[in-house]
Amino acid sequence: MDHSAALLPIYDFSLALNADYLKKIIPLLNQHQVAANPVNYAIFYDYVTELNPSLSAAVDRILRQNIPFDQDTSLDLYGNFISNASLTSFDNINQQIHKVIRQATDAINDTYHKAEQTNDSFQKKSAILESTPEIATTQSILQEIIQETKSLAATSQAMQIQLNKANAEMEQLRTELAQVRQIAITDGLTGLLNRRAFDQTLSEVIEQSEGETTCLSLLDIDHFKRVNDTYGHTIGDNVIKFVATLLKKHAEDHHHVARYGGEELAIIMPNTPKQKAIEIAENIRLEMEKSRLKRKTDNLTLDRITLSVGIAELHANDDPESFISRADSALYQAKEAGRNKVMH
Ligand code: GH3
Ligand code: MG
Ligand code: MG
Repeated sequence: MDHSAALLPIYDFSLALNADYLKKIIPLLNQHQVAANPVNYAIFYDYVTELNPSLSAAVDRILRQNIPFDQDTSLDLYGNFISNASLTSFDNINQQIHKVIRQATDAINDTYHKAEQTNDSFQKKSAILESTPEIATTQSILQEIIQETKSLAATSQAMQIQLNKANAEMEQLRTELAQVRQIAITDGLTGLLNRRAFDQTLSEVIEQSEGETTCLSLLDIDHFKRVNDTYGHTIGDNVIKFVATLLKKHAEDHHHVARYGGEELAIIMPNTPKQKAIEIAENIRLEMEKSRLKRKTDNLTLDRITLSVGIAELHANDDPESFISRADSALYQAKEAGRNKVMH
């Protein structure tokens, strides 16, 4: 099943950030005497990244209550909060859809059989009516016809109710499916498209572009390691979130804004002249440069944080890789030229 593979957890953090996480996870495992096996590592990975609040709450509860971290505990956590979370919701929706379709089909079949029986019966009665001159027989047959007609009407009304119910349930399932799909394409930290959705969208945009100008901007936070080192990862995360809001604010409605990597964001811009792409990137860069971010806890103003941007325009023979690579080269030039620059 395609979507089951697509719904596996995705860990797209950079090498450096993963190394930071490793340094946090190992002491935690030691401190709580948790075996450093892959399942437990995955649990504590989600725990330190704080990307999975329900799992974090469950782990906190277990640690607080000193519940031993044995195999059952860890498999429960893994199954409930990591491996199966998204697959289970898909399975549930799938089962529900089958149930609704089965119920609706049963209701339609019932009505069909009933109509067939009634039809047979009416034909027989019609033959009797033609051959019977007696008024009493005619009356009793008419009585029966009225009864059968009423009964058929009741069955078809029951079918109507069943179909209306099925319709409402399908509507609900459609909404749930849309939510699951939304989760599958969204980056948990920023709410932007995630890397997988970025890749897919970029391929589609390249495929669909027919001669009009399509641009791609890659934006990377300057000296972001320093931000993490100075203020910690939580502030680092908040900075990424802030940059994401700037991109959403300045990009146009038909653009696709994504988190391309850890602190690298991207805007796919179909139908957009390069000059417009540059203007948007400059506006984002300028607003970032002017923004003075504050730490919530003590109102400390953070040092100035800037962005570098590389822009590429789609060429006729481009595939996603060559397109990204050109934007990446421009980004590299922006870094080389001293950062806080837009290059194309
Ligand atoms: P420059 O791009 O200007 O060359 O310098 P840099 O310091 O930003 O360089 P680099 O790309 O090597 O470092 C990016 C850092 O971003 C490394 C990693 O620890 C951090 N990072 C990546 N993803 C995340 C994240 O999701 N949250 C936080 N807080 N940090 C992240
Ligand atoms: Mg980077
Ligand atoms: Mg950077």
